Amino acid sequence: MSGMAVTRELFDQVMVPNYAPAQVIPVRGQGARLWDQENREYIDFAGGIAVNCLGHCHPALVGVLKEQSEKLWHVSNVFTNEPALRLASKMVDATFADKAYFCNSGAEANEAAFKLARRYALDHYGEEKNQIIAFNQGFHGRTFFTVTVGGQAIYSDGFGPKPGQISHVDYNDIEALAAIMSQRTCAVVMEPLQGEGGVISPEPEYVKAVRELCDKHNALLIFDEVQTGVGRTGALFAYMDLGVTPDILTSAKSLGGGFPIGAMLTTSEIAKVLTPGTHGSTYGGNPLACAVAEAAFDMINTSAILHGVKEREAWFRDGIAAINEKYQCFEQVRGKGLLLGCVLNEQFKDRAKDFLQAALDEQLMVLVAGANVIRFAPSLVISHEDVTEGLARFERAVAKVVQG
Ligand SMILES: *Cc1c(COP(=O)(O)O)cnc(C)c1O
Repeated sequence: MSGMAVTRELFDQVMVPNYAPAQVIPVRGQGARLWDQENREYIDFAGGIAVNCLGHCHPALVGVLKEQSEKLWHVSNVFTNEPALRLASKMVDATFADKAYFCNSGAEANEAAFKLARRYALDHYGEEKNQIIAFNQGFHGRTFFTVTVGGQAIYSDGFGPKPGQISHVDYNDIEALAAIMSQRTCAVVMEPLQGEGGVISPEPEYVKAVRELCDKHNALLIFDEVQTGVGRTGALFAYMDLGVTPDILTSAKSLGGGFPIGAMLTTSEIAKVLTPGTHGSTYGGNPLACAVAEAAFDMINTSAILHGVKEREAWFRDGIAAINEKYQCFEQVRGKGLLLGCVLNEQFKDRAKDFLQAALDEQLMVLVAGANVIRFAPSLVISHEDVTEGLARFERAVAKVVQG
């Protein structure tokens, strides 16, 4: 096997066709740059979908990974381990939470959160209180429960009977939420800034009103911070800038800086219902993942890094505005910190994919968020030089699309 040609064609032969990856295959990365099999270099504004918060192969993370890899990889939850206990301590110290649960992905963190909310309601209020309310265009992962809570039926249809008692309303529409909430509602699940759905911020007073409705109906407020958490918006967690505290918070993506890990945070009072045996994960909280996440968390949870995110947001916004001045293709730039979305105007409606491909041709990796938004989610420590060069490449890509 070692001598075989590893090509993009091989993907179509041996991989389940649920993805349609780009034609190039990255083989190594450093900071905000990547190289493919042909040694072509790319600037990375995609960050592995908001995951590589410290870029590729950050020396601090590589060092900790190497060190831990020679000590202990996995023991299961029959035992606890030092990195998990250290990471949990740091996360609860830095947030509203008293307790942490670790798993391996964002979907699993949300799965745990939704099961917790259902169990809490059952134990405290009885069987009738089981409705979960989430938002249209929301995204919470791809397990069957989480994809059903997600607000795009197209992703959850076609797999047979769905988990029940899940309702959706429009984001930023407080009347719609108030209209369907009742004492039967056990939880409201929201992203404090919708990522996959199109990089959509909540209205300033909206989140507070959601919190009030939850309090009124004894429902738990779950913030899915899988994409917004760990520095992405310029706060350690996005809720910290909103003046609203959730009851349960989920984190993943940036949490591991590229090593798979997810976390659910909550209060002692709520955590209590997850007694031994109620939930679990073989790999969850394994020492390798937790050691890397601890190192990433230590670095991100500093005013220098968080302030730096705001500074970089300004570099991006200024650069995009200058490009738009020339080419007139964006109607708006949405988002916060280093989760930014360029919304295409009427003339280029739903052509985000064309911009993504043109950018790749110019050796720049970007993301989309739906058909109409080009999304940037780069390293939180990307250099000024890389932002400038990346935006120059983006300008060439935009010019190509605009000039046909
Ligand atoms: C990416 C994402 C998820 C799913 O995370 P996975 O690690 O892919 O399971 C859940 N919620 C939000 C808000 C996300 O952006």
